[in-house]
Formats: sequence, structure tokens, C-alpha cells
Amino acid sequence: MSDCLFCKIIAGEIPGTFVYQDDRLVVLKDINPQAPLHVLVIPRKHIASLNELTADDDALVGSLFRRAAALAREHGYDQRGYRAVFNTNREAGQTVFHLHLHVLAGRGLNWPPG
Ligand code: 5GP
Ligand code: ZN
Repeated sequence: MSDCLFCKIIAGEIPGTFVYQDDRLVVLKDINPQAPLHVLVIPRKHIASLNELTADDDALVGSLFRRAAALAREHGYDQRGYRAVFNTNREAGQTVFHLHLHVLAGRGLNWPPG
């Protein structure tokens, strides 16, 4: 997608701080972190939101969540706790329409979320 922010960052056209990359996903530091750890696990494939997933994406989504767990473990938050969340569309606050799994940790995270 030529006008997608995350596609452009993944392509190297816009700078980003990558903390992990493999053949199907990248992990970026969020530019406006909401917790001591706030990273975005992003598939290289352009998928606008959770609503556009198909059964062909099942393995990809599994790899996003397993990477979230690995990041939490690497940063020492796996036992303390962390949150992995997809925001979908307006009322959930989605602002970038390329699927991304937020991983937040390092402070008490309220429930229910605001
Ligand atoms: P959403 O609101 O769509 O769930 O999440 C989008 C996230 O992307 C936000 O947390 C926002 O801070 C982050 N973000 C927006 N623009 C950029 C950018 O240019 N670079 C990075 N690394 N993160 C961004
Ligand atoms: Zn994209």
C-alpha cells in the first residue's frame, strides 16, 4: 500500500526504531509510548485491521502473539504482566490502518481500559 505509514516504515522510506525483524513481521518502538515497554508487532503484509483477516492469516496471527510473548519475556515482564492488544476502528482508537499488535508493560495497566 503506497500511502500506508507502516508499509513505508517497513520499506525503509520513513525512519523507525526496529527491535526485531523476520521474514513475516517487524517490531517497532511506538513513537508515543504509553508504558515503559510499548512496541508494535506488525506483519509485513498489509492488512488494514482485524476485520480483514482470513483463514490464510491464522499462522501469521499466531506468530504475532508468540512474538509479543517473547518480547515480554526478554524485557522481564512475562511474570509481572503485560497487555497485547489490537485496536480496531474508530471507537477503539485505531489510527493506523495496517494491523499492529500493541505490547505494553512496565506499569499497572487499568482494566477496564479507558
Ligand atoms: P492505533 O492507534 O492505530 O492502535 O496505534 C497506532 C500507534 O502507532 C500509536 O500508538 C502511535 O503512537 C504509533 N505511531 C504513529 N505514528 C508512528 C510512527 O511514525 N512511528 C512509530 N514507530 N509509531 C507511530
Ligand atoms: Zn500497510
